[in-house]
Amino acid sequence: MASFDSVTRSHPIRTAEILCVGTELLLGDIVNTNAAFLSKRLASLGIAVYHQTVVGDHPERLRTALTDAFEGRGRPAADLVILSGGLGPTYDDLTKETVATYFGRSMLLHEESLTAIRDFFTRTGRTMTPNNEKQAMMPEGCVIFPNHYGTAPALAVGDDTRTAIMLPGPPVELIPIFDEMVIPFLRQHTEGVLVSRNIHIMGLGESAVESILHDMMVSSENPTVAPYCKSGEVRLRITARAQSEAEASALCDATVSRIRENRDINPHIYGIDCDNIETALVRYLSDRGLTLATAESCTGGMVGQRITGVSGASAVYLGGFVTYTNEVKINQLGVSPATIAAHTEVSAETACEMAEGARKHLGADIGISTTGYAGPTGGTEENPVGTVFVAVATKNGTTSHRLYYPSRSRGYIREAAASRAMMETLRAVMGEGNH
Ligand code: ATP
Repeated sequence: MASFDSVTRSHPIRTAEILCVGTELLLGDIVNTNAAFLSKRLASLGIAVYHQTVVGDHPERLRTALTDAFEGRGRPAADLVILSGGLGPTYDDLTKETVATYFGRSMLLHEESLTAIRDFFTRTGRTMTPNNEKQAMMPEGCVIFPNHYGTAPALAVGDDTRTAIMLPGPPVELIPIFDEMVIPFLRQHTEGVLVSRNIHIMGLGESAVESILHDMMVSSENPTVAPYCKSGEVRLRITARAQSEAEASALCDATVSRIRENRDINPHIYGIDCDNIETALVRYLSDRGLTLATAESCTGGMVGQRITGVSGASAVYLGGFVTYTNEVKINQLGVSPATIAAHTEVSAETACEMAEGARKHLGADIGISTTGYAGPTGGTEENPVGTVFVAVATKNGTTSHRLYYPSRSRGYIREAAASRAMMETLRAVMGEGNH
């Protein structure tokens, strides 16, 4: 009698290893996005990942990798190994058989999976070949996660202390199966609940944030405080573990408040758990009925593009100018030729006149501008490549900011300058008492 659906453990899952199977990965033909996805998800479940491995389609090497992971050779032993790939119908897809042998399980036909595979072929109008039946052969005593997105079902097998979860390689199958079925399965085998909050910071580098919060970061265990960097921004992730969600949330909120109270960090925070700076800006302005116009040079419309990517932007964003040459800055925005002659087009003075021109011509409450040297060529001794001026014009006046991103790519400079222009706008309107 075939027995399935029975994975039990004597202690919770705390550590995991990711083991991706596929010669294509070793040859560099495909990028290992599954490992990145799985690592992220496991971190959010509070499962520590100390090691990732890639092996080719080779049963002996796969078996060795599995043994090394569970026995912890050269790293902490894994309670859980998540394998991706090698569940296909072809002769070189050997993951299931190798893992079954490792756990001393025989392979049995799982009738429901066979029916599901047949249905999948009928539904998608494809012809099933005899080797697809192999995908319904399962190790005795495994838990099966049906695959509604492809043919190979995912599965979990193991013993008291070791659990292996096998997932199909294609991300379009692996991601939904993991989110819909594997996460609930893992929650039954982990302790407590994890809650995270993200503090979004701009205008301070990662090392500055770290040195300000160093003591808190190294001493805090629950919640943990960890920084992550992204073009021109730092995200601080606060993660707490507790018996209930309410308890974990309270722990996170207390740490978020402590960080917000820090006077060196506070002016640089643009949001908590928000998607990005453009979303924070659009929400803030729309709540206060304020409108915005842009005048962009080196960012070539990126500010406008990012703002219009936020749902609800039409309540805030009137429009913008992409003014790349001096003539267009002069003719479209009314920048004075004398200003450009005296200070050049990459200067605080030009940026201010651009922002004022956009605000005036479109009748907006706020005008934002960008002008700079994104490189790799150009720049001057005073303002080398990587220098960008952003300005914000409001009814109370215009402020400009000189940004400098040395040794960065053109893409990075443009992206970071667009972000900072929005951050400085948010700061300017907050500073004017628009709370
Ligand atoms: P199938 O049933 O499609 O054969 P499988 O489980 O056998 O699935 P593989 O044959 O190993 O998976 O890989 C199928 C495809 O999935 C690869 O060609 C690749 O496009 C994608 N893939 C596999 N592994 C990864 C990975 N680690 N990261 C991203 N994509 C992957």
